[in-house]
Amino acid sequence: MAKRDYYEVLGVEKTADERTLKKAYRKRAMELHPDRNPDDPQAEDAFKEAAEAYQVLSDTQKREVYDRFGHAGLEGGAGAGFQDMGDVFTHFQDIFGDFFGGGGGFGFGGRRARPDAPQRGADVRTVVELSLAEVVFGTEKEIDLAHPTPCEACDGSGAEGGRFVTCGTCRGSGQVGTRRGAFVLQTTCPTCGGAGRLPEKPCSVCGGTGEQHTERRVKINVPAGIDEGQTLRLAGQGQAGRNGGPSGHLYVSVRVTPDGRFERDGYDLVHGLQISFPQAALGTMREVPSLAEDEEPTSIEVPAGVQPNDTLVVRGAGIPRLDGRGRGDLVCVVQVDVPKKLSPRARTLIEELAATMDE
Ligand SMILES: [Zn+2]
Ligand SMILES: [Zn+2]
Repeated sequence: MAKRDYYEVLGVEKTADERTLKKAYRKRAMELHPDRNPDDPQAEDAFKEAAEAYQVLSDTQKREVYDRFGHAGLEGGAGAGFQDMGDVFTHFQDIFGDFFGGGGGFGFGGRRARPDAPQRGADVRTVVELSLAEVVFGTEKEIDLAHPTPCEACDGSGAEGGRFVTCGTCRGSGQVGTRRGAFVLQTTCPTCGGAGRLPEKPCSVCGGTGEQHTERRVKINVPAGIDEGQTLRLAGQGQAGRNGGPSGHLYVSVRVTPDGRFERDGYDLVHGLQISFPQAALGTMREVPSLAEDEEPTSIEVPAGVQPNDTLVVRGAGIPRLDGRGRGDLVCVVQVDVPKKLSPRARTLIEELAATMDE
């Protein structure tokens, strides 16, 4: 049978550019989709024809040869030609991705992960509780992690000694086929779950699950200036990979334990400064503890006549800025204690004070 012209097959001009070709091929392939053409061997042939045409025309070298010499130029190796639908769909998926419904629902030999292929380890997520001082100044923390890792005895394969036998149900292909019109509908083999092989004997260490529970201690460097809700990523500190695959990552979310003395406001530290009402009236010197344990307390001069909720600001006694440009401020909010209980002597004195102030 004489081969049709590739440009004609895709319905494009000889001058069509790459995008036009791709668009035309995609459109054609969708028209010929087996779901739309059940029991139609002609559609299958047309599908192969379109795939072949696109494979040649999308390749600059092959297209040049074809343009000069036609089909004859491509014979003997340089040409395309798909033998079965599996090849066609693999080719199609390479170009457009798996939009024929993923998960092997229409798996014309679509790529199947080899069971012994390297597999990246899973990511691990955890939370670390830190004090305000720890997040402000940074710290080093050790955290204990308990999570499954690939069984060392069988390298995560679940098979004793890593020995397998070929699955009898699918004869090693990992897929079982049922005819559906002109096509064979492939589904994942229920016996081996698509692996194509079964353990000769389950691993005696992990019982065939391929996993073991391990506890390990990880050291994390908490950088200064991190805040509540932020997450640290420790590359390669997640679960170990299988078959030589890379490890996953460890994600550590930061939670800050409330500090009884300070609240954080950007780079400022806010402190509630409690004073008695005589101190408010007369003025006093007070010390505010430092957030960093190795720093001296900050002395604060409370002026006479200070009012509740007045703020006393000590410049540069707050949180160190991440860019190294100094520190925020210490903001003390004045709280005046009014005694709930009075000794008889205190009562007398206050009554006298009240009488004096009324004069
Ligand atoms: Zn099987
Ligand atoms: Zn094992």
